[in-house]
Amino acid sequence: MSIKAPKGTKDILPEEIVNWHFIENTAEKIFSKANFKEIRTPIFEDTNLFERGVGDTTDIVNKEMYTFIKSDRSLTLRPENTAGVVRAYLEHNIFRESPPVKFWYKGPMFRYERPQAGRQRQFHQIGVEMFGIQDASADAECILLATEFLKSLGLNDLTVEINSLGCNNCRTEYKQQLKNAIAPFLDKLCDDCRTRYEKNPLRILDCKNESCNKLFEEYDLKNKVSGIKLCDECSSHYEKLKSYLDILNIKYVENTFLVRGLDYYTKTVFEIKSNNLGSQNAVCGGGRYDGLVETLGGPHTPAIGWAMGVERLNALIPAKTPALIDYFVVSDNQQEAVKLVSLLRSKGYSAEFDYNSRKFAKQIEKAAKIAKKAIILGEDEIKNNYYTVKDLLTSLQERIDKEQLFS
Ligand code: ATP
Ligand code: MG
Repeated sequence: MSIKAPKGTKDILPEEIVNWHFIENTAEKIFSKANFKEIRTPIFEDTNLFERGVGDTTDIVNKEMYTFIKSDRSLTLRPENTAGVVRAYLEHNIFRESPPVKFWYKGPMFRYERPQAGRQRQFHQIGVEMFGIQDASADAECILLATEFLKSLGLNDLTVEINSLGCNNCRTEYKQQLKNAIAPFLDKLCDDCRTRYEKNPLRILDCKNESCNKLFEEYDLKNKVSGIKLCDECSSHYEKLKSYLDILNIKYVENTFLVRGLDYYTKTVFEIKSNNLGSQNAVCGGGRYDGLVETLGGPHTPAIGWAMGVERLNALIPAKTPALIDYFVVSDNQQEAVKLVSLLRSKGYSAEFDYNSRKFAKQIEKAAKIAKKAIILGEDEIKNNYYTVKDLLTSLQERIDKEQLFS
């Protein structure tokens, strides 16, 4: 039986890689303009990092981690990259640098989820993290960066949703309010929601289970719990963010039910949703995580970041065709052909020839598929020191002296 790629993973084939390069190159261009530096951290980390960092009441940690033991050490394929970046930020004493410290990353993430359209077990994220700034201008900078990036990819028809989860103090009262509203139908909710009810009731609002969501509607949960009542500091932070977004002309929708799936968020959270994807419609998720650096053993450090799903971005971008190479050398003299190909490459052109030295017609046929121009190097050309250059787009053919090719 032939071996297939594991369920929930996908090969990215050469014809698809053009879009990936476009996305990654655009990221690098947009982020470096804002002085975000790229960081690459390991694909696996100590399991403990995610348990402490992502939070042990989250689905990611409870159900979705790829964990394995090597030499008595528990390691996990990273399900997200914020924890890894924070670990590196601390390990290399980057926290001693004067703020802000701004990173971006790209790479594969791993979550044991049910594969479906827009949801894989190995998927890719591009993300940013910004450390050291408490002011809401950092929140606005991150959201701006996300919208600029999406715009540069040619994507519109997106909605930015924002919310503030406040600080621990703000949340205490809200959690109780939420529990009171949910109590009448708690026994009808899914097992996860019943656990969350005890451990982390806010996360109930993030449940993806359809029957739970129906119950929320049936019991009019949205109207019963009016959103987190923010303390003065959190409220002024949120108001400031909104005024920055207004100044930047970034349109947003406030969604008081947006809580996000990870434990570490404080104050600002946001998601960017596409109106052109099916049910997995979130292309970007992020928020402020002022407590995470401290949780992972560092000094108190305000921070904010987001991550985008590259597969979901890709699904919105029309497929780009791979670029044609500059020259295909058509010849029955392989030694001359390989010499010319090497010369062309040394001059900065992309070039190929027919390794099997097939009939000229076959070679031209192949050339027309992959190159802009064919250089024909037949017996007469070799003898009389010239090339016949055929423009494969217009079919125009001209005789060019050897020395003139690069002039
Ligand atoms: P979702 O609500 O879709 O499960 P999430 O809240 O788990 O998303 P984050 O952890 O915030 O997502 O990750 C940020 C982005 O990464 C998402 O908005 C999405 O575009 C992408 N993403 C997350 N999980 C997957 C997955 N299993 N397959 C493909 N893309 C994903
Ligand atoms: Mg998820």
